[in-house]
Amino acid sequence: MKRYGGIEAGGTKFVCGIGDQEGRLLHRARFPTTTPGETIEQALEFFQKHDPVEAIGIASFGPIDLDTASPGYGRITSTPKPGWSRTDLVGQMSADLGVPVAFDTDVNGAALGEHRWGAARGLHTFVYLTIGTGIGGGGMVAGNLIHGALHPEMGHMRIPHDRSADPFEGICPFHGDCLEGLAAGPAIEARWGARGETLGEDHPAWNLEARYLGLALANLALTLSPQRIILGGGVMHVRGMFPMVRAELQATLNGYVQHAAFLDEIEKTVVPPALGDQAGVLGAIALALSG
Ligand code: ZN
Repeated sequence: MKRYGGIEAGGTKFVCGIGDQEGRLLHRARFPTTTPGETIEQALEFFQKHDPVEAIGIASFGPIDLDTASPGYGRITSTPKPGWSRTDLVGQMSADLGVPVAFDTDVNGAALGEHRWGAARGLHTFVYLTIGTGIGGGGMVAGNLIHGALHPEMGHMRIPHDRSADPFEGICPFHGDCLEGLAAGPAIEARWGARGETLGEDHPAWNLEARYLGLALANLALTLSPQRIILGGGVMHVRGMFPMVRAELQATLNGYVQHAAFLDEIEKTVVPPALGDQAGVLGAIALALSG
């Protein structure tokens, strides 16, 4: 049986896994993201203590350099996370383990995993958006993971911000009130003075959150024409969030997109990840399989 490795490289935790072509996870380890040296060493130790893998996929927080013609390929670029700018993830892993290393964003990795084994099977155009500590998006258009000059940064799109209804300035250090600045977990905490998980289900925070996510999903629906939109991340675990976001998306589109996916079948179109909490590491393994 061939084995493939995956690293879900997050800003707060790394998850390493070894799996097979069917998406079965055979080994898994999780540890906090500390310094680059210490964290990469822990990842190397994980793979060195198990049977060899054919290839490794790294699904990383970013921004990252995905241009294989660039001298900076395989590196994290301009992260505000201390010590991690210019970290060469691909170079260190491939040098020490001697196997091919595939590299993409954490959200493109998760999208690929959902495409191979989860909620996007059989689709050619879809979006995977995660709403948690930050907001990130990836996905496929016409069967290819979305890449361009860099990679999508869907979390930093601008959405209408009615300051009379929500005077909160937003917390994005680059844009203030972009989507992430208004709707990521830390924005909820800064606006309401309490962590999201301590706010009750009926708290007005969630209507506002659903409004912002509905506006963002409308932008994605209108620009990429996705067959499905998968929403992951801690914020989407709030009870009732999916129906509210679907309703806000439909209200924003206002009947303009005359397709069943956005009219009658919205509960099949805006969905949670089928791979659940394993979406990240399985996505990284899917990258290894596709490399
Ligand atoms: Zn921003």
